[in-house]
Parts: sequence; C-alpha cells; structure tokens
Amino acid sequence: MSNSPLVTYTRLSPNCTAPRRHAIDTVTIHCIVGQWTAKQGCDFFAPASRQASANYVVGCDGSIGLCVEECDRAWTSGGKLTAGGMTGSQNDQRAITIEVASDTTHPYAVTDKALKALLELLVDICQRNPGIGRLRWKGDKSLVGKIAEQNMTVHRWFAAKSCPGDYLYNLHGQIAAEVNARLDAMEAKEPVPDLDSTPADWEKPGVEFCTENKIMVGDGKGDLMLHRPITRAEFCVMLKRYHDVFGPS
Ligand SMILES: [Zn+2]
Repeated sequence: MSNSPLVTYTRLSPNCTAPRRHAIDTVTIHCIVGQWTAKQGCDFFAPASRQASANYVVGCDGSIGLCVEECDRAWTSGGKLTAGGMTGSQNDQRAITIEVASDTTHPYAVTDKALKALLELLVDICQRNPGIGRLRWKGDKSLVGKIAEQNMTVHRWFAAKSCPGDYLYNLHGQIAAEVNARLDAMEAKEPVPDLDSTPADWEKPGVEFCTENKIMVGDGKGDLMLHRPITRAEFCVMLKRYHDVFGPS
C-alpha cells in the first residue's frame, strides 16, 4: 500500500489505528473549519491529546499533507450515529479520509486552490486504490457500505454535525464527475502497445504465406511478434499446422 506522491508536507499523527482492518474502498471528505495550510492541519493533529486525525489534509494554499498513512485507519469520522448499519469508526476502517481547509462558518467554503488540490489528490487515490477505482455519489446514507452504488461518505451521517459543510457537500456530485472524467481521459491516452507485425520487404512473402494459411498467428491478439525467437514447441505447432493444411491426408 502506498501514499500519495502529491504530498507536500508529512507529519504522521499517533492518533490512528494501525493497520486498518478493512480494505480501502471508500473516500470521506471533511472540512477542517479553518483556512489553514496542510502543515497547520497536520501539526494540529500531531499531539496524542487531540484524539483525532485524517489520512490527508488539503490546505487553503493547495498544499497536501500526509497525517495518517493510507495503510492505517485515521480517527476522522467519529460520532454516535450509524448509517447503513455502520458507525463513523467503521467507515474510517475502509475510507481514505481527507480534511480540507474551509471557512469557519456556514457554508464552510473552501478556496479554489484547495478544491483544485483535492481533485488532484482524489484522482491519484482512485488510480492507486483499485478498491475505489471510480467515485460514486448519490447523497444517500442508506447506501453506506454498498460501494458498487456509492463509495463516498460524509461525516454528517455519523455525527450530529454539518461536516463537510454545505459547500463541499453540494459539490460532491461534481467532484465525482470531474475526477471520473479525468481518469477516463488518462485511460484513453494510455499508449497502444508496440506491435511487431510489419515484415521487412524480403520477409513479406513468407510472412503472408504463414499468416494467410494460419500457420503463424502471433499472440492471437493482433501482435505477430515477427522478430521474437521461436521455441521448439512453437515450431512443432507450426509444423503440424502446415501438415494439416498441405500434408498428405
Ligand atoms: Zn468531519
């Protein structure tokens, strides 16, 4: 398990359960109620007496702090309520939690820099955690734990508080759509594998003879692997194919 390479400040908090007891399959975005940098946030969670933490802190300046490693459970979504049969601490066993610097009053708005950094961090989290893959949000607390339908959760479902604030809460659908669109665009750009299917002029008649008569098929997925060495077994297969087509019946 890894942490985000986008991190600009690291100060690990003792306020965590190591290791987490559930595979990562959820993301929980919180508001930190203060226009702080990632350093200020991580430093805030550093004393053991704080009894709270998050995996990541996104600062108002776009800085990103690592506070609790992804392999460990952060103490972020505490509270007395349950949603979908889960408590906040059970949520944190499976969620990557992110505290985002915000205003101190309703609707707890975040800066554009913080939102930009949050989106980049989420794209990275989805790429590195196949248990998340894409973000899914329906704003329905009865779907907590039903990750095929919804894999984003919010603190207000587990505690009598407004976290992550209406500003971020109302953006959840857009955040999911934007992150997924970037992931789709990155996947589409992935380079097509180099095929070795083009013979030189002098090779051409032989290659065409073997491919037209299905004596040689390459990897069967479009790559003829023309200039790779052949094993004895592959040679036997080709001999038999030749025999089946041209040999005495
Ligand atoms: Zn919260």
